[in-house]
Amino acid sequence: MTTSAVIVAAGRGTRAGGSVAKQWRMLAGRPVAAHVLEQFLAAPDIGPIVLVVHPDDIAMATDLIAGRDVKLTKGGASRDASVRAGLEALKASAPSHVLIHDVARPLVSQALIARVCEALKTNSAAAPALPVTDTLWRGEAGLVAGIVSRDGLFGAQTPQGFEFDAILAAHRSHEGRATDDVGVAQAAGIPVTIVDGEARNLKITTEDDFKRAEQLIGTAMDIRTGNGFDVHRFSDGDAVTLCGVRVPFTHGLDGHSDADVGMHALTDAIYGALAYGDIGQHFPPSDPQWKGVASYVFLEHAAGAARERGYGLSNCDVTLICEAPKIGPHARAMSQRLAEILQVDADRVSVKATTSERLGFTGRGEGIAAMATATLVKS
Ligand code: MG
Repeated sequence: MTTSAVIVAAGRGTRAGGSVAKQWRMLAGRPVAAHVLEQFLAAPDIGPIVLVVHPDDIAMATDLIAGRDVKLTKGGASRDASVRAGLEALKASAPSHVLIHDVARPLVSQALIARVCEALKTNSAAAPALPVTDTLWRGEAGLVAGIVSRDGLFGAQTPQGFEFDAILAAHRSHEGRATDDVGVAQAAGIPVTIVDGEARNLKITTEDDFKRAEQLIGTAMDIRTGNGFDVHRFSDGDAVTLCGVRVPFTHGLDGHSDADVGMHALTDAIYGALAYGDIGQHFPPSDPQWKGVASYVFLEHAAGAARERGYGLSNCDVTLICEAPKIGPHARAMSQRLAEILQVDADRVSVKATTSERLGFTGRGEGIAAMATATLVKS
């Protein structure tokens, strides 16, 4: 079973406000279409993905899918025509099944995608829906003219899943306009199984829907914290490098790189938050290419790994532990340097210091220890 996805994003709907079509408007920092693609790209059951866009949006869409395994196709004048264009674009890869999803539902969850895929194992078509819970009225001239029974009524959602050949044939032979692909399947006599939809899988139509979607994304924020710890011993020298700042001193620090103990601890805190190994794993001390290297290379790598995974740095806090040199006069420069490397404002980066009351190895002046925490946020 290979299941492809067609994301229908060719509409020009600006009902939700703004001058661009809603799929290109920003939602929690990313275009609506980016949220949808991310969910389908992350779904383990989904193979090739086709994004159907309006011919005027090709440039924007090309930027959006850069480096991702997504195929672009131009849509047609109607929704039906756009879906059909997407299906035709998939024909060559011959998937057994396809999920068709409206880009206006950016809060589609992994669980929902999996539920539709699961239902397709035993049904020729499956689509999510929620039972109608509001009382339904029929209105005439501003007055309630009657109550409509809601028994057996459902609000349809997407993604809607089908056997690929069957839905392609149904679209090719379909005449007239259908509001969704279940309608096309019905017209072709394909039975469609209803699976549980999700209230949060809302369709963005109005400005209020945008606000509601922002709120729902906000409550699903992924917040991660990591910690890091490092120690370097003093060696001969006349300066130490701490958090990217050279501090004149009676000794240097011993280490394979520039021995920037503070930056190493912070780098490990970010790797830790990502559950992505540690500095020694990414930059092995046994590898001569890292000998004497400036430690910002490590920190930039960790920050890049966070960005690639969609995380931004909310804040970080570094504590240097030593009797000397004095850190206070340099703390501000250190936080500014770290902020520059991390591409965040300096007020998100704290650097402070403490002694260990002359106890232990730092107390005896044998070296410097550092600890750090970092908080990453993905919305
Ligand atoms: Mg180190």
